[in-house]
Amino acid sequence: MSCASAKYEAHAEPAGPVGSFVSLAANGLRALDALGCLPPVQAAGRAVERQRMWSGGGRLLGDVPRGRRSGDPLHSVTLMRADLVSVLRTEAARLGARIRTGERLDTTALERLHVGDVADLIVGADGIWSATRRLLHPTAPEPGYAGLYTVSGESHGLDIEPDAFNMIFGRRGAFLHVPSPSCARRPACTAARSCTPCRSCVVTMTAGSS
Ligand SMILES: Cc1cc2nc3c(=O)[nH]c(=O)nc-3n(C[C@H](O)[C@H](O)[C@H](O)COP(=O)(O)OP(=O)(O)OC[C@H]3O[C@@H](n4cnc5c(N)ncnc54)[C@H](O)[C@@H]3O)c2cc1C
Repeated sequence: MSCASAKYEAHAEPAGPVGSFVSLAANGLRALDALGCLPPVQAAGRAVERQRMWSGGGRLLGDVPRGRRSGDPLHSVTLMRADLVSVLRTEAARLGARIRTGERLDTTALERLHVGDVADLIVGADGIWSATRRLLHPTAPEPGYAGLYTVSGESHGLDIEPDAFNMIFGRRGAFLHVPSPSCARRPACTAARSCTPCRSCVVTMTAGSS
């Protein structure tokens, strides 16, 4: 079955060098495989084999397969959000989707699509402030700030393992670090199973509560 589809995105340009990274677990990767876009997503990111949890004092609390059951050969992929957006947009366009950026649909516009029988199906993947949810459930509670915040950035010159996502727990937050998916020398480091050749690729992230 084929169908015409249009995608509306409020941001003028959601791809490009914006945002931080995202990790996709095995179930999400299998969904991408069903859509035929697993290889370009894997190529845009970095396979991360293990997840390690550390106490603030440096004690290893846990070491588990990252985002998958043990024995699952499909490894979690970490990539920059913008790269994921680029891959998915390219694939959607290839399959014939019309992508309209810089166009924010409010509840009135959505109602026109819905009530006016313009669309047979509306998928509201529009995030925490979803206009689609407001249309369907006008009395649903509004999201409220829970006091959490995140800062992320890239550090260079570190000697870290190439295939582990690390979480170090502090009293009121956690410090996360993972090899950078955007490092230009990533393929060589991964092949050597070490970041030593360039010593310049780790994404660090802190998350805390106020
Ligand atoms: C710091 C942080 C780290 C995270 N890390 C991970 C992770 O590693 N792995 C993971 O699986 N999840 C992670 N998450 C959660 C994940 O980001 C969200 O669950 C996911 O992005 C939600 O997807 P979504 O499509 O519902 O909304 P969003 O990703 O928010 O996308 C909504 C899109 O719709 C657009 N939009 C909104 N309203 C309108 C409108 N009215 N008209 C047109 N366009 C509109 C927005 O511009 C946006 O592009 C993380 C979240 C945070 C905050």
